[in-house]
Amino acid sequence: MSSLGPERLERLAAEYGTPLYVYDLDELRAAYADLSGALPTGSHLFYSLKANPHPPLVRELLDLGARAEVCSPSELDTALDSGADASACLYTGPAKTETELDHALARGVGLFSVDSPTDLARLGRCARRAGTAAKAILRLNPADYPRGAGLAMGGAPSQFGADVAWVREQPDRFRADGVELVGYHVYAGTNIDDVERLATWFEVALDAVRQAQEALRLRLEIIDLGGGFGHPYARPGTRPPWPGLAGRITEALGGFGGPPPVVAFESGRYLVCGCGALVVRVQDVKTSQGTRFVIADGGINALGGMQGLRRVPPIMAEALPAPGANGAGGSGAASRTVLAGPLCTALDLLNQRAELPGVRPGDLLVIPNVGAYGLTASLVAFLGRTAPAEVSVDARGVRSALRLDLRYGELPAARPDGGLTGDRGDRAEMR
Ligand SMILES: *Cc1c(COP(=O)(O)O)cnc(C)c1O
Repeated sequence: MSSLGPERLERLAAEYGTPLYVYDLDELRAAYADLSGALPTGSHLFYSLKANPHPPLVRELLDLGARAEVCSPSELDTALDSGADASACLYTGPAKTETELDHALARGVGLFSVDSPTDLARLGRCARRAGTAAKAILRLNPADYPRGAGLAMGGAPSQFGADVAWVREQPDRFRADGVELVGYHVYAGTNIDDVERLATWFEVALDAVRQAQEALRLRLEIIDLGGGFGHPYARPGTRPPWPGLAGRITEALGGFGGPPPVVAFESGRYLVCGCGALVVRVQDVKTSQGTRFVIADGGINALGGMQGLRRVPPIMAEALPAPGANGAGGSGAASRTVLAGPLCTALDLLNQRAELPGVRPGDLLVIPNVGAYGLTASLVAFLGRTAPAEVSVDARGVRSALRLDLRYGELPAARPDGGLTGDRGDRAEMR
């Protein structure tokens, strides 16, 4: 966290309240420069809004040259409202509905990733109805992904994409009126921090593309190799470098014949994880049957909702000394602590085995590297507490301060026949 020293965080917490997400835009810019610089020249780099749809971050990444990879109507609208060129957006997801495809086509999305013959045919129907021709890439599930890094999303039975063997056995099912398939999409894993392993994954992905292309013989415009660029999450650490990666990919791309396709990559985590920190304030410290509990004003409603799904390792909160009346905060040797949040459930634990120094009520704790999969990957609506403020800063000062607002909205009245009047009513408004 480059420009975010304890005093600055203390000031921001006092001004905006806690829990508080702080995003350092200088750090975001540096991460974008590092990743785009590690890819072959001319590559497209998509920002996956799933990692963090916070509009100021999206706007910044678009300004830097990223494209938007979205998988919901709300992510698409955020990207477009943040200045994305619709024709450069990629729309993905394994269960796209006609309603969302209609919306995406109406807004001018230029490229879809399709996951199956059903998905492809549905896109074709929607495009014909809209009087346009859609462009799509076919998501492949490779047969043989190397195991053992991050979350595998390939090389195993998967709801994502189509098995390469299926494509080879029934190539005719992978065509549809209204859609032109112009390439392939492979996204098979996430959070890989080793360049050798990542390069190997891309090589295997390209093998899968080669095998599918033998059967489909598309006019190959684009190969989206996905990503998997790792980053430490909710613990101290810095983004890994990718020495030699561009060369490895360029080499593996040889031999496709025809005009060389554009190569695309996607990243959420690597681009935004390091720029964000969550600041919480200690509300209580007590000992229960020999175990010390530190209870903060933000818990799994602000961070780590996905931890409950056992998909992320324990969160590590770093204690930050607080000046003023609680000046002794953060002092003394670290000791074993359960770090709990404010929710009325025993599940609201940010870390069951934290090592924290002596802290007192009023002290701040800072959890680093949570710019990705932070707030929107958490149980924001559970117990209905106000969402944390989100502030983005850079060397020039505070650049934006926003708060996510979740509340109920009235649906159009139901007609006696069970239909809905007016709007089709199947698009919940979340703002
Ligand atoms: C989740 C996802 C990403 C982003 O993954 P990161 O690990 O955040 O980089 C990119 N592409 C697809 C298709 C995804 O599902």
